[in-house]
Amino acid sequence: KNLILEVVNLKKHFPARGGNPLVRSERTVKAVDGVSFDIREGEVVAVVGESGCGKSTLGRLVIRLIEPSSGGIRLSNEDVTHVQGEELRSLRLKAQIVFQDPFGSLNPRMTVGASIAYPLQVNRLFKRGDKEGVEQRVKELLERVGLNAAHAKRLPHELSGGQRQRVGIARAIAVNPKLLVLDEPVAALDLSAQARVLNLFKELQRNTGMAYLFITHDLSVAEYIADRILVMYAGKVMELGPRGGVFKTPWHPYTEALLAAAILEGPSSSDATILDGDPPSTIDPPPGCRFNTRCPHAGPICAAEEPALVEVQDGHMVACHLLTGKLQRRIPASTRIP
Ligand code: SF4
Ligand code: MG
Repeated sequence: KNLILEVVNLKKHFPARGGNPLVRSERTVKAVDGVSFDIREGEVVAVVGESGCGKSTLGRLVIRLIEPSSGGIRLSNEDVTHVQGEELRSLRLKAQIVFQDPFGSLNPRMTVGASIAYPLQVNRLFKRGDKEGVEQRVKELLERVGLNAAHAKRLPHELSGGQRQRVGIARAIAVNPKLLVLDEPVAALDLSAQARVLNLFKELQRNTGMAYLFITHDLSVAEYIADRILVMYAGKVMELGPRGGVFKTPWHPYTEALLAAAILEGPSSSDATILDGDPPSTIDPPPGCRFNTRCPHAGPICAAEEPALVEVQDGHMVACHLLTGKLQRRIPASTRIP
C-alpha cells in the first residue's frame, strides 16, 4: 500500500515559559525530539503515552497547525514540512484533525450545518451560490456520522457530547482527507458514547480507507482501533510496532510499565497518574535515555548514552540499551506482561 505520511527525524523545540516573563528563558522545551515513522493508506497508527509526552504536538505538526523546528514531513509524496499559504490550504484537503473537545473547536454561534459547510466553501469544493449542492453534501455527511438532516439547524450547545464529536468528525471528513489526526477524540465522552464513537471511527475507516493517526492515553482504546502502536516518552519514540507485538510482547520497560499500570488501574485511570515518579519532562531533557529516572532496569550507560531505535522483530522497533547488548536485565524477562 502507498505511503500516506512519512515523518523523518521531526523536531519541535521552543523556549520554555514560566518564571519571570520579562526574563528570556534559557530553557528549551523539546516537545518532539527526533521522531520518525510512517503511515500507509488505510492504516491506523495509535500514539500512546502520558500527558506531556509530546503526542499532541506531534499531531499538530503532522497536519502543520504548527511548523517543525527541523526534520521532514511528506504527505502523499509531497514535502509539506514548511509549506505556507495556498500550499498549506491544499494540505488541508489531504489531512484533517479532530480534537478532544468538540465544544471548544465548534463555533458556538454557528449552526451545525454551517460548521460542516465551512470547509466545503473555504476550499471551493462547490460553485459559488450552489446552496443546494452544499446542503445535500452536509446532509450526506451528517448521515455518514450517524446524525440526520434535522441536526443541521441545531447549535452546538443543543447537542450531547457524543453528537458534538460526530459534528467535528463530519466537518473533518467533509473534504475527503486521506489522513485524519485524532487527538484524544473520545477522552471527553462518557463510556457508552466512547464505544459508539469508536465504532463510528472503525466504520468510517473501513468505508473510506482513510488513514488515522490516533492519539490516546488510553491503551484499551489504542488496542481496539490501531494496526500499529507508537509509544512516546518525553518527546521520543520508545517503541513502535504492530499492535499484537507491542501489547503481547512489549520490549521497552516504559511500555511494560504503561501496560502494567493500565491493568492495575483499569481503563478509567487518568493519564496524569499512570506511573509513579516524575512525569516525563520535555524541558531541558537530560542526555541518555529519557526514561532513566523511572526505569527499574537503568544502569550507568542509560544516563550517558541515548539508545538507538533498533528493529527487534519485523517492523517492531525499540529504543533501549537492554536490546543493544550494553546492559543486562536486572529483573528477569519472565516478569513481562504475558
Ligand atoms: Fe531503562 Fe536504560 Fe532501557 Fe532506558 S535504556 S528504558 S533507562 S534500561
Ligand atoms: Mg494532549
